[in-house]
Amino acid sequence: MAHDPYEALYIHIPFCASKCAYCDFDSLAYKADDPYIPEYFEGLVADIRRLAKEGELAHIRTIYIGGGTPTHVGQKHLTSLLYAISVSLDLAQVQELTVEANPESLTEPLVKDMWALGVNRLSLGVQTFDDGLLGTIGRIHDGKAARRAIDIARTRFENVSIDLMCGLPGQDEEGFARDVDEGIRSGVVHMSVYPLSLEKGTPLYRRRRKLSFPDEDAQADMMERAELILTEAGFERYEVASYARPGFESKHNRIYWEGVPYLGIGRSAVTMTQNAMRRMRVRDGVVEDDLDQANMAAEDAMLAMREVRGLSKERAQALACVLPALPAELVRLKERGLIEERGGAWCPTKRGWLLGNELFGALMSLAS
Ligand code: SF4
Repeated sequence: MAHDPYEALYIHIPFCASKCAYCDFDSLAYKADDPYIPEYFEGLVADIRRLAKEGELAHIRTIYIGGGTPTHVGQKHLTSLLYAISVSLDLAQVQELTVEANPESLTEPLVKDMWALGVNRLSLGVQTFDDGLLGTIGRIHDGKAARRAIDIARTRFENVSIDLMCGLPGQDEEGFARDVDEGIRSGVVHMSVYPLSLEKGTPLYRRRRKLSFPDEDAQADMMERAELILTEAGFERYEVASYARPGFESKHNRIYWEGVPYLGIGRSAVTMTQNAMRRMRVRDGVVEDDLDQANMAAEDAMLAMREVRGLSKERAQALACVLPALPAELVRLKERGLIEERGGAWCPTKRGWLLGNELFGALMSLAS
């Protein structure tokens, strides 16, 4: 279909050194020298060249190379991919180029190469600095490796993000607070803090009865504690799970939350294509979402509530043209304390985020 230009590019690298006990993402444990890896990268490079020739990359302003563990495949493959990107796109117009990395595979030469080839942001999967907890959730790095990886990343990059998890089996609020404190002291400028989601079929799920998990209230307390510590330290919570020092908010993630079209390359990567009438999401050639105007508007309103800045009144008015039930629902959500009016916008409250399913569900169901 004729579509609006894609503004973000996601490239999926589905290889990891080993499978973490909680992970249900599309990633598999591969040896770094497995012959399938070069074949996979050749496919990625061919896709990038084809898309560039078709003009689909002309408006890309953010790129995210995620996984899996992109750094697991080693310098040769990662640099060949970055080189293909640098010759296929105008990097001067790309504001953010992120590579996801795990502590055990981030090396100084790799950091240097990524920086030289246009990467300007690293996102490190730390999860916790606690060796016992890292072992329980099946991560193969320890706290020392995480600290070392952050230090190496910061030798070249100002924009370094880490992921931290709460609600891990055996974790208490004080231990989690120590992780957040250590993250701040490490000098990173962005943190994603999210609760463990226990997914069926994972080794952690199978062991769930033998482990002691913090309950939902304890998890919520940890999320609130993170906000307290991070905001005191000068970070801003700009999305339900994301904190940044001013100016370091993730531009790529914002594109996802703001209903802007994005391209996905590689196995399991999702492409979102849209025009004024229709929005489609396709993964591996299969259409996962096919939204009409009303459903698009409901989704836009819902996604806006993930961000602190919420849904501007102007935008709400525009969305109401195709979603007439929206204004009344916003008032109802305000009466329930899930959103509030602030600075010319409808913004989520803390309660709204705590009861996220209710808030997001109420907006999504407006189109049905
Ligand atoms: S490193 Fe990430 S993608 Fe790989 S197995 Fe662990 S959680 Fe999954």
